[in-house]
Amino acid sequence: MTHRVDVVVVGGGQAGLAAGYHLRRQNLDFTVLDAGPAPGGAWQHMWDSLHLFSPAEHSSLPGRLMPAQAGEIYPDAGHVVDYLADYEKRYDLPVQHGTRVNAVRREGESLLVEADTGLWRARAVISATGTWSRPFLPAVPGRSAFTGRQLHTVNYRSPADFTGQRVVVVGGGNSGAQTAADLALDGQVEVTWVTQRPPQFLADDFDGRTLFDVATARRRALEEGRRDTGGVASLGDIVAVPPVRAARDAGLLVAKPMFARLAADGARWADGSHSGADAVIWCTGFRPALAHLAPLNLRSARGHIPTDGTRALGEPRLHLLGYGDWTGPASATLIGVGRPARDAAQAIAQLL
Ligand code: FAD
Repeated sequence: MTHRVDVVVVGGGQAGLAAGYHLRRQNLDFTVLDAGPAPGGAWQHMWDSLHLFSPAEHSSLPGRLMPAQAGEIYPDAGHVVDYLADYEKRYDLPVQHGTRVNAVRREGESLLVEADTGLWRARAVISATGTWSRPFLPAVPGRSAFTGRQLHTVNYRSPADFTGQRVVVVGGGNSGAQTAADLALDGQVEVTWVTQRPPQFLADDFDGRTLFDVATARRRALEEGRRDTGGVASLGDIVAVPPVRAARDAGLLVAKPMFARLAADGARWADGSHSGADAVIWCTGFRPALAHLAPLNLRSARGHIPTDGTRALGEPRLHLLGYGDWTGPASATLIGVGRPARDAAQAIAQLL
């Protein structure tokens, strides 16, 4: 049986829920198809000690402030999952969990959405599948020669899994710094942190609020035809969240340059130095999960789908939400996704 709706939203994480909120306000008939068995998107899978880099009220989706978490200024991932589950219920959003979309195809006036539980014929599609399911590992010489354990951020849980071991953490972004700090502060793990360029910490009093304010100021300047104020990238790469600050100030977070290659027993640098390792944790980022859109043939050589705001340039019935700044400033953050979600819902309402 083929279901018919105005809009299918693919992905039911924060971006998919924000889309649902605004589609409802446009009185559109929609459904959200989410591969995950439960609400919460990627937040269900973060490592144990992860906390947001902004206070709760600055991490809210449209319509409902995230409540504060007792005893925490920066809520943990479990609190975000609870908030998203409550958000889905409170707004009675029609999310079908456990439904993976395998393909979206053009079929006459419609877009045909093929999921593992059925077919949906839609007049428009919002893709909000995030990046968590596509961890990126760089091609590094000797990677397959290393006989220890290799894992990506998506598989890291806690230092307890590495007690008494030597661990190399690769990556100079937030996840690399936080993972290295988590392991180093534990005191039972020998950590070597490597980064491609010297780590760039944001000022200690900057958190996600500052990043959002800077991204907003830049968007306004560009919209009003003023000089580009420069985005968040110019501020640094690493938010100095409390554990990162603590590890750095204790001298536990000193980065080495990237190694030249891996050998069976560890990492080797170009100057001949060597670090034995039992495990390598790759905190090397993600790519957008866009495989379901392959039949539409929209990807550029960079692997992104070119957009004007959220709308795909090559398919006006398709919008992309979340993923990164290329679908709207701060679109891949809790507080930032509301605005592009509103724009996408309005554009779809106009189109239909
Ligand atoms: P996701 O949360 O990944 O949700 C996508 C959903 O789509 C998932 O449920 C998935 O199962 C589903 N899906 C995927 N493919 C398909 C398919 N083919 N068919 C159907 N469903 C599919 N942001 C902040 O605002 N504050 C922070 O402090 C913060 N910290 C972060 C820390 C880390 C380590 C990371 C990685 C990110 C952080 N972010 C933070 C960024 C951002 O908020 C998250 O990445 C967020 O999870 C993105 O939401 P999303 O809805 O776009 O994607």
